[in-house]
Amino acid sequence: MLEKPTHFIRTKIAEQIKQGQLDVPVTRFPPEPNGYLHIGHAKSICLNFGLAQEFGGRCHLRFDDTNPAKESQEYIDAIEADVRWLGFQWDALHHASDYFETLYQWAVHLIQHGDAYVDEQSAEAIRATRGTLTEPGVESPYRDRATAENVARFSQMRAGELPDGAAVLRAKISMASPNLNLRDPIIYRIKHVSHPRAGDAWCIYPTYDFAHGQSDAIEGITHSLCTLEFEDHRPLYEWFLKKLPVPSKPKQTEFSRLELEGTVTSKRKLNTLVTEGYVQGWDDPRMPTIAGLRRRGYSPEGIRLFCERIGVTRKPNTIEYQILEGAVRDDLEGRAQKGLAVLDPIRVVVDNWTESPLALEIPWHPKHPEYGSRVAYFGPELWIDRSDFEEDPPEGFFRLTPGGSVRLKYGFIVDHVETIRVDGRIETLIVRYDPATRSGQDQSGRKVKGTIHWVDANTAQRVAIRWYGPLFTVPDPARADELASVINPESLIKRTAWVEPAMAVCQPDAYWQFERLGFFKQDPESTPKHVVYNLTVGLKDQWAKKQS
Ligand code: ATP
Ligand code: MG
Repeated sequence: MLEKPTHFIRTKIAEQIKQGQLDVPVTRFPPEPNGYLHIGHAKSICLNFGLAQEFGGRCHLRFDDTNPAKESQEYIDAIEADVRWLGFQWDALHHASDYFETLYQWAVHLIQHGDAYVDEQSAEAIRATRGTLTEPGVESPYRDRATAENVARFSQMRAGELPDGAAVLRAKISMASPNLNLRDPIIYRIKHVSHPRAGDAWCIYPTYDFAHGQSDAIEGITHSLCTLEFEDHRPLYEWFLKKLPVPSKPKQTEFSRLELEGTVTSKRKLNTLVTEGYVQGWDDPRMPTIAGLRRRGYSPEGIRLFCERIGVTRKPNTIEYQILEGAVRDDLEGRAQKGLAVLDPIRVVVDNWTESPLALEIPWHPKHPEYGSRVAYFGPELWIDRSDFEEDPPEGFFRLTPGGSVRLKYGFIVDHVETIRVDGRIETLIVRYDPATRSGQDQSGRKVKGTIHWVDANTAQRVAIRWYGPLFTVPDPARADELASVINPESLIKRTAWVEPAMAVCQPDAYWQFERLGFFKQDPESTPKHVVYNLTVGLKDQWAKKQS
């Protein structure tokens, strides 16, 4: 077995344990429930849960629910379902909102120690006096108000006596700090909005910066892993831990976020796609959400393999989409049942077939006898894919040609006899089969260069296929001013296919490979009468092929 590639966080934890500085790591995955999880979150989930598992530690799921206006129970439920589906179980479930009372008390603590003040300037005035990277900010006229007045005013904020925007609580650090995050950051805002969990108990809410590190400290998190955008927030994270009577001192470590070529990984942008109707929902199979990838037919193992392959570094970079597809293909290759399906059929009449159709017992996977087998019929009338016949074959075309021969997989070698057209379009191919060439029992010594797939025309069933292309027309849609301008109008093509009877049965959990075509999974909208398959990923690298 390949050894897992290591990375700086794993190495550091191993070292801390070795040095006796750490018993076991305690990590957390802290989503904000304002949308569904996407492939970027999968990286963070695999990292946080993976490290805890590996070192016998614990990982918490914590909803960072400090911004009630955008959060909902639907998102909370979807996030829990997605983390479980990826194969992880949290050791504890928490909500930042569980800590609202403690956080409030700690805010009062800051005020009482002269480390926070109520600022009643307008939001614009606060923004305008923040300064820039080259110029210091300007101190608020409220900065030096008396402690007692701050305490009273903050308690009025909590009591709902002030309207939204009338005042904020700011940490009193330094308006001259070269780090803008330390220029008296806002730590509480007034929002008269009810909260999905806390209801109407609060009308002031802590900011991310004030809630996050303190929540980590309350839960005894040892390693608070976050993406690089938070590097500049680390001094603030540490400032709060130093100023407050917290029960533990977590450490923040940053890593580079996953950026995936050809798609967007931002809940806000994904939300736009949903609300503006470019996709059918958060779980649309074209979405890079966990729910979309699951519906598309990606396996949790495939996604975890991808996360392992991309590693964890501090270097920002964009991962090619084919790395994700490659990992999924590698996983599905051993997992999927291999069946026969024809997308764009030409009828093939086997001229010399005189008996009744032959029942072939074919295992679902050549390397996995435990997956079982099914019977497919090889009869006098078959379908093959139109692209497997060429009247005027280019060099290197090894499939069926006029006067040529090809092997029909699991069946026999057939020899082309005649092509029949109707209104100029090829409708039927007449072939003869060679009875001495049955697959597995072939003593004929005949060799042909090509093997193609087929289905028996008399027993094949029709199913619906949803054939997906990239959702965007450009490799970096996140940079587009308007997502609408880079949407691929052909990202979903509805097709049909003729499949073996055993593949026209509802099997919502099975993974499929249509031989020579790609990997597929049945869509949850399938019914026994109308089976729908989603194209998970083609067999070849579609992306590279398109660009060459
Ligand atoms: P979004 O912009 O999509 O809302 P976010 O960072 O605001 O992303 P959160 O719900 O706050 O989303 O993220 C939960 C955790 O997942 C955080 O620790 C965050 O760092 C991590 N995360 C989010 N996006 C990525 C990504 N693209 N790559 C790696 N980790 C990510
Ligand atoms: Mg966030």
